[in-house]
Amino acid sequence: MDNQQNLPQAAEIAIVGGGIVGCCVAYHLAKLGKTDIVLLEQGQLSCGTTRHAAGLVGQLRSNPAMTSLFRYSTQLYSELETETGPATGWTQTGSVTVARTDDRMTMLLRTAASARAQGVDVDVDVDVITPDAAKDKWPVMQVEDVKGGLWMPGDGKANPTDLTQSLAKGARMRGAQIA
Ligand SMILES: Cc1cc2nc3c(=O)[nH]c(=O)nc-3n(C[C@H](O)[C@H](O)[C@H](O)COP(=O)(O)OP(=O)(O)OC[C@H]3O[C@@H](n4cnc5c(N)ncnc54)[C@H](O)[C@@H]3O)c2cc1C
Repeated sequence: MDNQQNLPQAAEIAIVGGGIVGCCVAYHLAKLGKTDIVLLEQGQLSCGTTRHAAGLVGQLRSNPAMTSLFRYSTQLYSELETETGPATGWTQTGSVTVARTDDRMTMLLRTAASARAQGVDVDVDVDVITPDAAKDKWPVMQVEDVKGGLWMPGDGKANPTDLTQSLAKGARMRGAQIA
């Protein structure tokens, strides 16, 4: 759909904004079986803030609900290209988070323990690593003042614009309309 003349008079669900959030909502509602969905974007899909995002996807968050959400995101992003066709730029690179103070290291250790304690629903792989191990992962890093860090092998990066298009295509494939 590409002009206002084709807009339906009514829809069960209207979503305003075709950034990653709007397209993701459309995709998941369509996946839940909703078909009478219209997503309205004033410009082009992902023309807003989404276009400027770096695309880093880290699973370790400060609370269980957010960690579950990001864990799900990494699974979805790794499968979406196969499902819808367009590339998403998803690459499972792993990530290194480092601490330069004892307090920050304590915070990282607590966050890692909390991620592990979240159990099978989350199942996040996280390793506590030494400064030298961090340097092995990213050799240009200066580690003289680093206390330690965390290695998250399941983290990665995606292209936010391509990801948005891919979610939009997945929504369209299930009957949603995008204007
Ligand atoms: C892979 C990925 C990784 C990310 N990583 C990080 C991160 O590490 N840290 C972080 O802080 N953030 C991250 N982000 C989030 C990112 O920075 C933005 O916060 C996010 O993309 C915003 O999405 P949005 O859909 O809410 O907003 P937008 O992308 O701004 O989309 C809103 C859309 O609504 C449209 N619109 C507005 N008003 C109207 C209207 N009246 N009628 C019709 N259309 C309208 C706009 O044109 C726009 O396209 C990440 C995002 C992605 C996709």
